[in-house]
Amino acid sequence: MKTLILNAGSSSIKYKLFEMSNEQVLAEGLVERIGEAVGKIRHIVGDKETLIEEHFADHRVGLDRVANLLVDRNLGVIKSSKEVTKVVHRVVHGGDKFVAPALLNQKVIDAIKENISLAPLHNPPNLLGIEVSLTIFKEAVQIGVFDTAFHQTMDEDAYSYALPKELVAKHKIRRYGFHGTSHSYVAKRSAEILGKDLSKCNLITLHLGNGCSAAAIQRGKSIDTSMGLTPLEGLVMGTRCGDLDPAIPFFLSKEEGISIEEVDKILNKQSGLKGLCGSNDLRDIALKCEKGDSLSRRALDIYVRRIKKYIGSYIAVIGPVDAIVFTAGVGENSAIVREMVCAKLDHLGIEIDKSLNEQKGKSARMVQTVNSKVKILVVPTNEELEMARLSEEI
Ligand code: ADP
Repeated sequence: MKTLILNAGSSSIKYKLFEMSNEQVLAEGLVERIGEAVGKIRHIVGDKETLIEEHFADHRVGLDRVANLLVDRNLGVIKSSKEVTKVVHRVVHGGDKFVAPALLNQKVIDAIKENISLAPLHNPPNLLGIEVSLTIFKEAVQIGVFDTAFHQTMDEDAYSYALPKELVAKHKIRRYGFHGTSHSYVAKRSAEILGKDLSKCNLITLHLGNGCSAAAIQRGKSIDTSMGLTPLEGLVMGTRCGDLDPAIPFFLSKEEGISIEEVDKILNKQSGLKGLCGSNDLRDIALKCEKGDSLSRRALDIYVRRIKKYIGSYIAVIGPVDAIVFTAGVGENSAIVREMVCAKLDHLGIEIDKSLNEQKGKSARMVQTVNSKVKILVVPTNEELEMARLSEEI
């Protein structure tokens, strides 16, 4: 059984082919710059990485090339694309309809289309990937996995905004939450590491990548999360502002004389760490902090303070937690962020071990002191594997 995972973006397609009997990755890669004069594919099989540069007119051409690469005599890993029995697609916004992966029939595709207004940047390319894949992998079962699904266990208190109920009902305005596949994967891995049944685990999972979100997981289920109707709410991110006084967009529009679209662009693309100090890469920021750059230091302090506030508020709603879990690019790699987030939280039973925290590694690990009541875990996320596994449950 070979399962192909696809994540189609506006000008890219990320892919990973699994042999599901042993969950081995057979091949993976990324098609980039679709539609540009020169596109690029990074195709990886085991230790061997191949870089291909050619023009991909559209997603169909790009995915066709991937299908050919998978069966290529030199670079391929299968004999025929018919060996791909399942294609699993990442879909960012499932609205309130999808609590689990869904077989992509016309009804489901139409429902994803209905959610375009909720994720105008993400759902259209996701749909394009599905459409193209249906014509290329004709015999495979096609399944959608939704970023929002894991958080559908939130109750009304957690997902409601205090807005007029008529407007809320008309436009389906509520907290949906994102990064669900990642939160779900690291929650399950954390339960394994803690040696406890997931249904008995209370966790705070922190997905800190370019996009950042926190989730409060009570007895294995997401009961609150920091992203909302869109992935703009919550933590300070690479280029997104996260939580704001909701009056700020109107203030900016009025004072700067700019349109609401321009404000939207500022909040999504020019804010967060980038807006605060000019860089959205924690590696640069940490380096600059070491050299005494005060702007970078301030940005990091603001970034960390927001995370701490979420930890505090989630402990208030879920009660004692078994573990704080760090994942994604920053969470997995930045010892300084983990140390700053956990600093002075000993009154909540959270105590990080500085030297364990500084040890580098690619595997999941615990970094708390022996006295810490709460475990502190660093768990590399694996969204593709989680998608493949979730698709088996259908
Ligand atoms: P995405 O949200 O795009 O999936 P990732 O989870 O890959 O992002 O995280 C990307 C971010 O992780 C980078 O912007 C960078 O800030 C951070 N990062 C990656 N490696 C390191 C590292 N070694 N130390 C600190 N930060 C890192």
